[in-house]
Amino acid sequence: MKKLVFATNNPHKLEEVRAILGSEYTIVSLSELNCNDDIPETANTLEGNALIKAQYIKDKFGLDCFADDTGLEIEALGGEPGVYSARYAGEENCATKNMCKVLRLLGDNKNRKACFRTVITLIIGDKTSYFEGRINGDIATQPRGESGFGYDPIFVPEGYLVSFAQLSAAEKNGISHRALAVNELALHLQKL
Ligand code: IMP
Repeated sequence: MKKLVFATNNPHKLEEVRAILGSEYTIVSLSELNCNDDIPETANTLEGNALIKAQYIKDKFGLDCFADDTGLEIEALGGEPGVYSARYAGEENCATKNMCKVLRLLGDNKNRKACFRTVITLIIGDKTSYFEGRINGDIATQPRGESGFGYDPIFVPEGYLVSFAQLSAAEKNGISHRALAVNELALHLQKL
């Protein structure tokens, strides 16, 4: 079985990626590598941060690896919070404060178009590849729903009347930006 490191310790992401990639690959997390390093995410693009994380593992362990980075991009806010989604309202990565900041900045703006975008960077040998998943939608006027995490309560995916946080995990994972990016990665790996 082929081995690939996924540069994350997020159990939710690991489970989702393992389910999509199937049994052909053993996906190894950072904790399984005994890597507890706080990898700095200093780039100003999703692509840049995903590359930093994958390159860090490749350089340190010499293992084939992929990493992801996700952002919520809001048209009326010039693409913000984007790469700064996790800490938009401060260092503590508080979802409630982040959502409040978005709703405050948008006010009663009629243009509420947004998208979630995930970028995955894969390094196999000396070759680097990028995969993207995107889902369009609208920012609601107030948070709705309890499931999911992050900005889910204020994101209404296109074609739906409910927020991501009002969908079941299975429904969200079936259409999400992350699932789309992982599907692209899976298609690429199948061709190798
Ligand atoms: P990460 O790159 O996956 O860690 O995502 C960065 C930030 O984007 C997270 O801290 C969340 O605030 C937000 N985010 C990422 N994915 C999602 C999602 O599926 N739903 C809601 N918010 C998300």
